[in-house]
Amino acid sequence: MPERMDPENRAGSRGNRTEDQMTKFSIALHGGAGTIRKASLTEDAAAGYHAALRDALEAGAAVLRADGTALDAVTAAVMALEDAPLFNAGRGAVFNSDGVQEMDAAIMDGRDRRAGAVAGIFGPRNPILAARAVMERSAHVMMIGEGALKLAREAGLTFADPDHFFTEARWKALQDTLRMRATGAEDDDPARRHGTVGAVARDRAGNLAAATSTGGMTAKTPGRVGDTPIIGSGTFADNATCAVSGTGHGEVFIRFAAAHEIAARIRHAGQSLADAADWVVMQDLAKNDGSGGLVAVDAQGRVALPFNCEGMYRAAIEHEGPAMTRIHDA
Ligand code: ASP
Repeated sequence: MPERMDPENRAGSRGNRTEDQMTKFSIALHGGAGTIRKASLTEDAAAGYHAALRDALEAGAAVLRADGTALDAVTAAVMALEDAPLFNAGRGAVFNSDGVQEMDAAIMDGRDRRAGAVAGIFGPRNPILAARAVMERSAHVMMIGEGALKLAREAGLTFADPDHFFTEARWKALQDTLRMRATGAEDDDPARRHGTVGAVARDRAGNLAAATSTGGMTAKTPGRVGDTPIIGSGTFADNATCAVSGTGHGEVFIRFAAAHEIAARIRHAGQSLADAADWVVMQDLAKNDGSGGLVAVDAQGRVALPFNCEGMYRAAIEHEGPAMTRIHDA
């Protein structure tokens, strides 16, 4: 179910690009993709998701409207999604099979491909800020364990209590999965167990950035790390091509280097963002048990939001046009 914000701008038709568009910002975000049954989503619940998506979009757009950077915009949008208990990141993160929350996050700056990531952490209220601290305060790209937490503390980040991160819905999802496993009746549909948040943006100066944050997959094995913090898999940004944030069955995103594959198709094969993103989501991922989707923006500010499963919580503004939020197809 590919989705493009602006069908006329497909196929890399640079002729459609106006000078005007090049000075306008674009931003897109997701709150996870997977089995989002229309029938079981009440009107009230849907309204709650749309409101949370709108708030996060506005948090990012406000930065861009004030001529802020794409990097600050994706940080702000992802922080808002991490703070919303509805999504699987920060507050509301899923539990691993030991009943522990282990969070992964990454951020990348398209200006110079600087990047920062953390994996398997618990404590910082906004894991995306811990990833950003790795990028800005260390000589490294990825940190884990006590070292990552020490850096976050030194950066002055707010830490939160377990109560802040806990949600009844995620705890119940873990119990349901463990019960199914114990009885051998597990429907091990990965699409049922995942979710993530992420954002991409192009600012008015033409710079791109991507940020992604997740609790991973419900009942994951302790120590498992997904695609989110792996640069080039769940998160990627390069001003020359595009910025991408993925959500879905992380192992497949890693094996297919999903986010970087989109950039490579643009760079080496001259594909449009829409075609490159569709290929990766509908071919590479979909045909290899990789349910999920992604949000992406290219150097011209065009947005693509493809997904290959039932739904993807998503929101976008392209070229400073109207804001949209969606869950299912239309
Ligand atoms: N990609 C994430 C992971 O595998 C989960 C998700 O996005 O749904 O950790």
